[in-house]
Amino acid sequence: MNIRIGNGYDIHRLVVERPLILGGVEIPHELGLLGHSDADVLTHAIMDAMLGALSLGDIGHYFPPTDPKWAGADSLVLLTQVNQLVQTQGWRIGNIDSVIVAERPKLKPHLKTMRDRLATTLELEPNQIGIKATTNEKLGPVGREEGIAAYAVTLLVG
Ligand code: MG
Repeated sequence: MNIRIGNGYDIHRLVVERPLILGGVEIPHELGLLGHSDADVLTHAIMDAMLGALSLGDIGHYFPPTDPKWAGADSLVLLTQVNQLVQTQGWRIGNIDSVIVAERPKLKPHLKTMRDRLATTLELEPNQIGIKATTNEKLGPVGREEGIAAYAVTLLVG
């Protein structure tokens, strides 16, 4: 059995008049994340972890922010494409673990919904996906609610 590990990080700026979408779930909040796609930082970090595990570059290479095709894109659609790429290379996901760093809103009530949505998209069991949420203790740009960040690691099995 071959195994590969990958890690991913992303951050997006919080602005008014944008939806807040994390793990494919729209979360009620007065601010949302700014980006070319739906700016789903958690899903972006997971995709970069998957690509990184196979040394396939990053999501900016596959879905460039300069390409109008990806404007407002549903990141779960992009995730499906990255998963297909991983599978065609002969690999499958063993597990994913992730952390969302956000000062507000409280994300705990939404974590299970995010996990279930990502599991459905990736055709995994929910217990193969870890999603945790923490604040940044009011420190730095995330602590000042200027943005939300996410970290992810994944283990691929081949
Ligand atoms: Mg991103």
